[in-house]
Amino acid sequence: MKPLTISRTFVLWLVLFCPIAAWIGWQDYADRYERFFQDTSIAQRMLSQKTVQHEAVLATLAALSHPPIPERLLPSLQPSMPQLLGLGYLRDGVWAGSTDFPPGLAAAVRQAQQLGRPVTLALDEARYWLVAPSGWSLLLDARHLIPVADFPPSLAMLTLDVGAGPLTLLARQSASSAGLKIDLHKPLGAVSQPFPVHSWRTLTLADWPWTAWLAWAAASCLLAAGTTAWQRSRAEARRQQEAVRLAAMTRLSTLGEMAAGIAHELNQPLTAILAQVRAAERLLDDEEERPAVRQALLASAGQARRAADIISRMRELVKPSSPSPRRVVDPDALAASLLFLREDELARRGIRLTWRNARPGARPLGDRVALEQILHNLVQNAADASGTRSIALNGAVEGSEYVFSVSDDGPGIDAEALPRLFEPFYTTRPQGMGLGLALCETLAGAMDGRMTVRNLEPRGACFTLRLPLAGADA
Ligand code: ADP
Repeated sequence: MKPLTISRTFVLWLVLFCPIAAWIGWQDYADRYERFFQDTSIAQRMLSQKTVQHEAVLATLAALSHPPIPERLLPSLQPSMPQLLGLGYLRDGVWAGSTDFPPGLAAAVRQAQQLGRPVTLALDEARYWLVAPSGWSLLLDARHLIPVADFPPSLAMLTLDVGAGPLTLLARQSASSAGLKIDLHKPLGAVSQPFPVHSWRTLTLADWPWTAWLAWAAASCLLAAGTTAWQRSRAEARRQQEAVRLAAMTRLSTLGEMAAGIAHELNQPLTAILAQVRAAERLLDDEEERPAVRQALLASAGQARRAADIISRMRELVKPSSPSPRRVVDPDALAASLLFLREDELARRGIRLTWRNARPGARPLGDRVALEQILHNLVQNAADASGTRSIALNGAVEGSEYVFSVSDDGPGIDAEALPRLFEPFYTTRPQGMGLGLALCETLAGAMDGRMTVRNLEPRGACFTLRLPLAGADA
C-alpha cells in the first residue's frame, strides 16, 4: 500500500474509532457510577436501619414502668446488637449503668429533654453515647453496626462520622490508587444520629472498558481497511474503463486515417470499374445471354456504386463537422434496392429476406446512403447469426417517427451483451471488428434517428431504427 493510502486509512480509522470509543467509555463510566450510587445508597440504608433501631430500644426502655437493671439487661441485648457496649440511666441525678458514669452525660440528658429526642455524645471516632430525654443511654460502637462482609461487594471505601472525625468502615482499595475518583456524601436517616456517610472509589486503568475498546478498534480497523479497498477497486475499475475508452478512441482515429487512405486509393479504381462495366454492357451482343448478363452487370454496378458511396461516407465520418444531408426518403424504393442486392445471395444460403411496409405513404427524413448502409449492416448481422432462416424487414409509423425494423429467427443476443452492442469494437465473432453497429448508431444519430435492439420470443433479435417523419403522408 502507498504511504498516502496508509495515512488516509489511518485517518479514516481515527474518525471511525474515536467517537464510538468515547461513547463506549462514557457509557461504561455512567454504568459504574450508577452501580456505585445504588450500592452507596444500600449501605446508607443498612446503617440507617441499625441506628433507627437504637432509638426504638431507648423508646421501649423509657416506656417501662420498672426500669430493668442495666448490668442484667446488657447481656440479653448484645447478641442481637453487637454494637452495644454498655447502657444505663440517669434519674434524679443518680446514675445506674453497666459502665462508669460518663462525663457530660447530665448535660446531654438536658439537651435531649430540650429537643424532645435522643442526642449523641461522641467518645472517640467509633464510640458514642446515645442519650434519650428519659435519661436512658446506650454506649454504641459504630465499627460493629454492620459486618464488613455485608456491604455490597462493589463498594470500595466508606467512612462514617459519629462526631469525632471519620471512622473507616470499609477500605477495599489502596489509598494510593491513581485514577478518576467518584464519591458520594449522604447522612444517615435516623433523626437522632444523622451521621455523614462518605463513600468513594477510584476508577483505575484496570476499570476502563478495554475489551470493548479493543473489539471496536479491531472492527473499525476492518471497516476502514474494507472501505479503502473498496474505494481503490472502484478507482481501479474507473481507470480501466477509461483506458479501454481511450484505446477504442485511438483505434477509431487510426481507423479514420485508414479509411481516408482507403477512400483516396479506391475511389479511382471503383470509378473505372463502373465505366468498364457499363461499356461491357453496351458491347454485349449475344442475344440469349444478354438479359442474364445485364442483370449481373447491373448488380455489380450497384455494388460498386455503393462501395464508392460507403467509402466517401467513411471519409465524411472521420470529419465530424460534415453535416449529414437529409432528404425525404421513400422506404419502398430503399427496400427494393436492398432486396435487389441481397435477396438472391441470401436465398442461396437458405435465408428468406422479406419487406413489409405497414404505412406505404409515410416518408422518413434521412440520408439515403446512410440508411442503406445501416439496413445492409443489420441484414448482414442477422444473416451472420447462426441458424437464421428468415429476415423480416418492416416499415411502420409510431407517433411522429418512421420505424424500420430488422427481425431474424437466429439465436438472439445474450443479456450481458445487449447493453454493449453499440460500443465500438464490441464483437463476439472471431473475425468481427465490432464496428458495424457502432457505425450504424453514428450514422443514425447524424440523421436525428436512434437505434434500439431487443430479443424476440421464442428466438431471434429485432433491431429498430427510428427516424423523424417528413410530415404528412404523401
Ligand atoms: P461485428 O459484426 O464485427 O461483430 P457488429 O457491431 O456488427 O460487429 O456487431 C456486434 C455484435 O453484435 C456481434 O459480434 C454479434 O455478437 C452481435 N449481433 C449483431 N446483430 C446480431 C443478430 N441479429 N443476432 C445475434 N447477434 C447479433
